[in-house]
Amino acid sequence: MLKQRNAIVTGATSGIGLAIAKALADCGCNLMIGGFAPVGVPERLCADIGSQNGVKVFHSGADLSKPEEARRLVADAIAAMGTVDILVNDAGLQFVAPIVEFPEERWDHLRSVMLDAQFHLIKAVLPGMIARSWGRIVNISSVHGLVGSPHKPAYIAAKHGVVGLTKAVALEVAEHGITCNAICPGLVLTDLIRNQLPDQAKVLGCTEDEALKRVFLANTPTQRAIDPAEIGATAAFLCSDGAKSITGTTIVVDGGYTAR
Ligand code: NAD
Repeated sequence: MLKQRNAIVTGATSGIGLAIAKALADCGCNLMIGGFAPVGVPERLCADIGSQNGVKVFHSGADLSKPEEARRLVADAIAAMGTVDILVNDAGLQFVAPIVEFPEERWDHLRSVMLDAQFHLIKAVLPGMIARSWGRIVNISSVHGLVGSPHKPAYIAAKHGVVGLTKAVALEVAEHGITCNAICPGLVLTDLIRNQLPDQAKVLGCTEDEALKRVFLANTPTQRAIDPAEIGATAAFLCSDGAKSITGTTIVVDGGYTAR
């Protein structure tokens, strides 16, 4: 479906980004995957995804909190694959604290990885996409790009910013065969969530399974966590020709969370 297309997927060493990378590889895309991982893990991921799908897969450990490393990621992708036809901005992280105690350096760090890096990466890939009159940009926002929640000011501000950036980019490049959309997932069971469960269970005096239900799934009508592969399938659809008129919008994949 996307044979010969070349894609960058940031944050693809785990969770949602990894699932998106696998879904795009399954469609025939070559990949530059970004993200941190222990020594040896990225090489294994590249080899596995590449051999299972007959595509080329490269890895970059660029730290996206630094603009020059975001630009280097794009330059490395072009050097390795020739072009970048698809950009999936997935890299992200969470920090939870009341706003009066929220460390300023955490605010800067979350914003730089989840919003500023998306700007730098989009800016660097667009000239090539415009020259070839084809491109797909998929930005991972969150239900927290649409609604608020206490104690997550940096995350929520960055994710709302991603929705705005998505609309602005989509309008600017719509005539060039390039789409730009945001996916807003609800609760997806990844390390980002798993790492919070032991503390939540301790605070509530319950098991981690109960903490998942009480803290994270309380307002999710489907009462189940989303599989990362579901977000992978949504991203692959947005990159397909069938989605060429879908641009500047948010696709909400949240088990009904925001329908209330
Ligand atoms: P994850 O922790 O499994 O993956 C995060 C990825 O981002 C990793 O590959 C990590 O190495 C990378 N990353 C973090 N900081 C980076 C930096 N400075 N430079 C480069 N890469 C960096 O988390 P996930 O749940 O898969 O989250 C992926 C995206 O989905 C994030 O943007 C997150 O906000 C968003 N999201 C997650 C959920 C959820 O419930 N898990 C819900 C909505 C949105």
